[in-house]
Amino acid sequence: MKTVYLDNNATTRVAPEVLEEMLPYFSDLYGNPSSMHRFGGQVGRKLAEARERLANLLGAQPSEILFTSCGSESDNTAIRSALLARPDKRHIVTTRVEHPAVLSLCTHLEKREGYSVTYLGVDSEGRLDLDEYKAALTKDTAVAAIMWANNETGVIYPVEEMAAIAAEHAVSFHTDAVQAVGKVPMDLEKSAITTLALSGHKLHAPKGVGALYVRKGTPFRPFLIGGHQERGRRAGTENTAGIIGLGKAAELAGANIGHENTAVRALRDRLEEGLLAAVPSSVRNGAKEPRLPNTTNISFGYVEGEAILLLLDELGICASSGSACTSGSLEPSHVLRAMGVPFTFAHGSIRFSLSRYTTAENIDYVLDGLPGVIENLRRISPFHPGEGPKPACTC
Ligand SMILES: *Cc1c(COP(=O)(O)O)cnc(C)c1O
Repeated sequence: MKTVYLDNNATTRVAPEVLEEMLPYFSDLYGNPSSMHRFGGQVGRKLAEARERLANLLGAQPSEILFTSCGSESDNTAIRSALLARPDKRHIVTTRVEHPAVLSLCTHLEKREGYSVTYLGVDSEGRLDLDEYKAALTKDTAVAAIMWANNETGVIYPVEEMAAIAAEHAVSFHTDAVQAVGKVPMDLEKSAITTLALSGHKLHAPKGVGALYVRKGTPFRPFLIGGHQERGRRAGTENTAGIIGLGKAAELAGANIGHENTAVRALRDRLEEGLLAAVPSSVRNGAKEPRLPNTTNISFGYVEGEAILLLLDELGICASSGSACTSGSLEPSHVLRAMGVPFTFAHGSIRFSLSRYTTAENIDYVLDGLPGVIENLRRISPFHPGEGPKPACTC
């Protein structure tokens, strides 16, 4: 069966160029970059190149990059480091729409470790309010953690402006940029962002490698303690092949970001406009702009997201629903709840996320298949007003 993969905010395909660059480091070039001998040293030089490539994509210096195992580790490291560096301050500012890598950590710090946390709300389009943000920063605030772009809606937040405001208050500013890196041009040198998290597998590098940007001069406390890897900032023998893959992926993203974004945006808009026109009672969740070019989140009213996903899966179409199906609950997504999306729409939300490998045929295939799926589900939906048989009472 053919596969139409529109779940790139969950994970992406490793680019063939990335795989090719990595392969020798799984076989012949297996040296430890910390070794004294030349065999290890050549791997060390390749890691330095990867660090440089990633720094170029971010507009940072190579010494400001440390490699980690994933985006979640980068988020945890950055936030904990900011708190440990300012033991006199006990307050954190974040948002209600963060990825669990930040949100669950903040809840943990609040419930288990005695910190106080302000969770900023969003409006119905998923946007933050800068006045609410400014008012939340106090003398006790150690760190503000605000994502660059939302993984569910694609909405982009004004993090550069927010970082500048944090700096005026002597507050450390962390951004989870896992969804933004490679899609949004960045020049960290010119910004006031203190730390930034990213993940390899969201930008066509493999799973199991991530990175953290730490602005030069920032006091830093390691999360993993042990050997002297990453200049003492992250212990553990490096995931050499993964890091080299991430470096290559960064180089590819930087070289292609302009035309790729244009092409991906055109396909995304065609999908979004086509679905909204073809399916009654469908709405986009989240502001139209500023938004990641690859993401659209659409609610199909009066149907269950899980049911839609199952029928799309029958057609070979991979997408995501906003409901937390993985946790076994049918709670609608915390992001859509924060936006105040009504129950009958929040449950029927589907996220489509495209990549450089998405084709026009892929989009046409979805536009062909999805409206019929929704029509069939609505015919049997107990929620849908005025259509189909009402469910028999089972009590
Ligand atoms: C995927 C994702 C993460 C987690 O990254 P991992 O590498 O899977 O740990 C964090 N934040 C956002 C916004 C994400 O989309």
